[in-house]
Amino acid sequence: MARTGGAVPPSAARSRNMAAVKRSNTKPEVDLRRRLHAAGYRFRKDFPIRLEGRLIRPDIAFTRRHIAVFVDGCFWHSCPAHGSMPATNQHFWQEKLEGNVARDREQDRLLGRAGWTVIRIWEHEPLDEGVNAVAATLIGRAGGKPS
Ligand SMILES: [Zn+2]
Repeated sequence: MARTGGAVPPSAARSRNMAAVKRSNTKPEVDLRRRLHAAGYRFRKDFPIRLEGRLIRPDIAFTRRHIAVFVDGCFWHSCPAHGSMPATNQHFWQEKLEGNVARDREQDRLLGRAGWTVIRIWEHEPLDEGVNAVAATLIGRAGGKPS
């Protein structure tokens, strides 16, 4: 089963630069899309959703059924199992990582209020579990038919 190490923080020298970039198309994300696509599901990638002045781009969006899927990196989103605080630039990192988590919860709230179902999958989770979580939600919202 494919697993990623995932939680290694970048060097201090690159940290600010990297932190400014939205990370997308990470391997777990790409793998999940590939598996869902192969299973016959059709979805949008990085679909822009504007809610209350915020722009939210789920990694995977089922627009008709209003299901938003995020694959959260263990380091960037402070996974309870693998999240870590770099030893250097601690003030910067604390603000950055806490900000990420706060933004995640804000996005969850906005999406939920607008009728979206939000699925968050940690990058460390086995691919099968992510696929199953999405499939189960789709079935729950649509009476059992994929696509
Ligand atoms: Zn993790």
